This record gives sequence, C-alpha cells and structure tokens, in this order.
Amino acid sequence: MLSVLFTEEENAFREEVRAFAEKEIAPYADEIEETAEYPREILRKVGHAGHMGAMISPEYGGTGKGAVHEIIIAEEISAVSPVVDVSRGVTSVYFAPPIFKFGSDELRKKYLPQIVRGDKIGAIGITEPDVGSDTAGMKTQAVKEGDAYVITGEKRFITNGSQADYILVFAVTDPSVKARKGMTAFVVETDWDGFSVVEDHDLMGMRGARVSHLKFDGVRVPASQMVGEENKGFAVLMDELDTERTSLAAGAVGYSRAAMEVAIEHSVKREQFGRPIRSFEGISFKIAEMAVKIDAARLLTLQAARMIDSGLKASRQGAAAKLFATNAAQEITYEALQVTGGEGYTKQNRTEQLARDARLMTIGGGTAEIMKFLIQREVYKERGY
Ligand SMILES: Cc1cc2nc3c(=O)[nH]c(=O)nc-3n(C[C@H](O)[C@H](O)[C@H](O)COP(=O)(O)OP(=O)(O)OC[C@H]3O[C@@H](n4cnc5c(N)ncnc54)[C@H](O)[C@@H]3O)c2cc1C
Repeated sequence: MLSVLFTEEENAFREEVRAFAEKEIAPYADEIEETAEYPREILRKVGHAGHMGAMISPEYGGTGKGAVHEIIIAEEISAVSPVVDVSRGVTSVYFAPPIFKFGSDELRKKYLPQIVRGDKIGAIGITEPDVGSDTAGMKTQAVKEGDAYVITGEKRFITNGSQADYILVFAVTDPSVKARKGMTAFVVETDWDGFSVVEDHDLMGMRGARVSHLKFDGVRVPASQMVGEENKGFAVLMDELDTERTSLAAGAVGYSRAAMEVAIEHSVKREQFGRPIRSFEGISFKIAEMAVKIDAARLLTLQAARMIDSGLKASRQGAAAKLFATNAAQEITYEALQVTGGEGYTKQNRTEQLARDARLMTIGGGTAEIMKFLIQREVYKERGY
C-alpha cells in the first residue's frame, strides 16, 4: 500500500528514516522511558541526519522537501519513540517554520541553521494558565518601549520549555482589540533577563519530555525579533497549526503502528484453550480494526501534507487528520494492551507506555472538541454559510 500512496523517492526516504530511527533512537527508547531523561543528544543526531529540516529550504540548512517528507519522519520516529518525535516536532515543525515563512532574513539566518541541525532547541509559547483552547483570550502582553517590546506574562504546558534556547512567544500588542487582531509573535532567547522556568509539569506519559510553566517578567525584546507584522500574530499562529496538526497526526500513525505490531506478535505466540489467541475472532477482529484505522489515518494525514506542499490551505484537512489519527491511536493502544492481557498492564510491555503517550494527543495541539469545531466551521464555509 505504501508504495502506491507515496512516490519512489518518498518510499526510499521512508526506508532511510526507518533505518536511522532503528539504529540511533530505538536502542535508547527504554532508557528514556525509565530515567525520564530529556533526549538532548538524540535530538542533535536527528538534526545532523537532516530530519529536522523538511519544512526549511536548503538556504537555511534544511532539505526543503516539504510536508510529505515531514510526515514520513514523524511516523517513523514516533514508531520507536513518541517522546523523541514530540520534542523534535516542537523545535523543527512548530518553532522553525513560522520564522522561515514570516520572519525577516536576519532572523532566518540567525536561528534556522542551528535549529535545523539540532544544535539549539526551540519551543512555542501559546498556552497560558487562564488560556487554553481560546487562544484569542491571551493575556501575556508585549508593550512597545522605543525600539523594543517588553514582554510580561506566563505560559503553561510549553513543550521543550525548560530546555529551549529560543521560544516563539505570542503576546498581545494591542489590548484595545480582541487578541485575534492584536497579537504578535516574537523570538525570545531564554538567557535574556526576566525569563524564568517556574516548573516542569509532572506528566502522565511522554516520559523524557520537558513540558514547562514559564514566566516572562519584563523581558526586553528588540523589535527586530518580531516574526511577521505587528498585530498579525494570529495569522502566523493559524498557519503554524495546520502543519503542526498534520505532523502530530503522522506521529499518531507511528505509535499506533508500533502498538499493533506488539498485539499481532503476542496474538500469534500466546496460546490459550490449546491454540494461538489470534484464532479467536474476539482478538483477530481487533487487529483488523487497528489495520483499517491506521490506513485511514495515514491517508488523511497524507491528504493534508500534499495540500500543504501544493500551497493550499489545509486547515480542515489538518484538523481532520489530527482528530481521526489521535482518536484512533487511543483506541488502538488501548486495544493492543487488551490483546496482550495481564502482560500489557506491566512496565515490561510497550503497550502500557504507548497508551499513556497516546492519551496526550487529543489534548495537545488543540483538543478533539476544538478540531470538530474547526472542521464544521470549514464545512459550512465551503457551502457559503
Ligand atoms: C503535554 C502537553 C504539551 C503541550 N505543549 C504545548 C506547547 O508546546 N505550547 C503551547 O502553547 N501549548 C502546549 N500545550 C497546551 C495545549 O495546547 C492545551 O492544553 C490545549 O490547547 C487545551 O487547552 P487547556 O488545557 O487549557 O484546556 P481547556 O481549553 O480549558 O479545555 C478543557 C476542556 O474543555 C473543552 N472545550 C474548551 N472549549 C470548548 C469549546 N468551545 N467547545 C467544546 N469544548 C471545549 C476542551 O476540548 C477540553 O476538553 C500542551 C499541553 C500538554 C498537556
């Protein structure tokens, strides 16, 4: 199936990324899960191998191969380590592309090559203690003072937050209008005065990730650090989210696939009532449903990625891919755990970890409910309502 959906070059690229992930990430995946250590050196290897630059042109160190390459990377890395891919995605897909698309040439030259190589780490700061789904209710402010802006506020649940060298921060620059019309994006360096890490959140899954509560206490940011135009940050954010959601959906395909493989192998080897449990329809039909959901999730993800590569707006398609793929991942990882029985409920079995990791993804990057809201809005809009 893969060879029909993807070009020969894309299939060869998948083989290359899969081999890289098996050699450079898989041997450390259990250790990351056990120690919860942030995979800093692995991210550098991912960058040096060229897997952080699909969305960035060669002029700034990327491959410029686009969103289809990005979803291949996300699927293959997530299949061996969801947490490595989430940490990678935040720096290379959420932080870097807005600078590439909307930033000045000075910002691109300054930040993109080192991010793409994985030598420096980026994060994106949207969510706040009082602001989640309703991003337009943002409270963090950037007040203009001469040729700089002074940022004050808090950001919560920021992936890579405490490890990042740079953060793409969204802040209100015109409080007299709704944040949608008055927010601006800035690149903030984390060694600047006034920036601090309040804490790393203690998470249910994604062990090894650093998801942080951050404080900006009068951080002075030169106006040249602005990404896009003043008060036009919402457009930067919306554009970023389409690619982010498509990449997250591809990641969900990756760890769904990993969970299904565990379930298949177990169902072939485990015998009860004198035969392998795969011979019971109660088990084998679960595998059938997993396989169909994975195929469908990959198709939706590919649709969104091909649209992005064609320069088309993919808000509905990105949201649909994320909604379906992340719901499917939760069902698949839970069912895979069920197939592996008591073993699945132990730390020795990978489905336990995958089920906890997958649980995040109908929340992070926009909740499932918000994806439905976005999809219905586009569906009506397409019909002129
Ligand atoms: C591990 C992790 C990593 C994250 N990484 C980042 C990051 O790197 N950067 C960043 O900026 N943010 C990040 N987030 C934040 C994430 O994007 C938000 O958690 C998410 O958008 C939801 O916001 P909230 O948690 O405030 O929930 P809320 O918005 O308070 O929602 C609570 C519930 O209400 C529902 N709800 C809200 N509004 C509606 C509505 N209109 N209709 C129907 N239901 C609704 C939601 O779907 C949800 O079920 C991360 C979160 C987590 C948990």
